[in-house]
Amino acid sequence: MKKTYRGSCHCGAVRFEADIDLAQGTFRCNCSICFKTRAWMAAVPASDFRLLCGGEALADYQFGNHAIHHRFCKTCGVRPFSQGKDLKGGEFRAVRVTCLDGVDPQELVAAPVKYFDMRHDNMKSPPAETRHL
Ligand SMILES: [Zn+2]
Repeated sequence: MKKTYRGSCHCGAVRFEADIDLAQGTFRCNCSICFKTRAWMAAVPASDFRLLCGGEALADYQFGNHAIHHRFCKTCGVRPFSQGKDLKGGEFRAVRVTCLDGVDPQELVAAPVKYFDMRHDNMKSPPAETRHL
């Protein structure tokens, strides 16, 4: 069931609200940026995400084919979400579940995790090893 969560960066400059069904799954990935930033995310359509404040506090980082905007707070460096278009052209937000405020840890424990092997541009199967991600 979708639930509305509030989330923020560490210093609180960036605040958002997102409607997420954690039971539908979260994801981790072994690509260079997800690995370095320990990303654990849940993807939602852009219509289920509302930036409440801090638009001016957000920097934008892109690399590779520049498909995804990796947003981060200029003050505290925390990355509350990334944004981009999915394969069908729909705008999405990939929300860091670790930036959700007041989320019951049990909800995170119970959330299924899907692993992407984007280090090898492989969307079809998870990486052989995931314990370090
Ligand atoms: Zn911040």
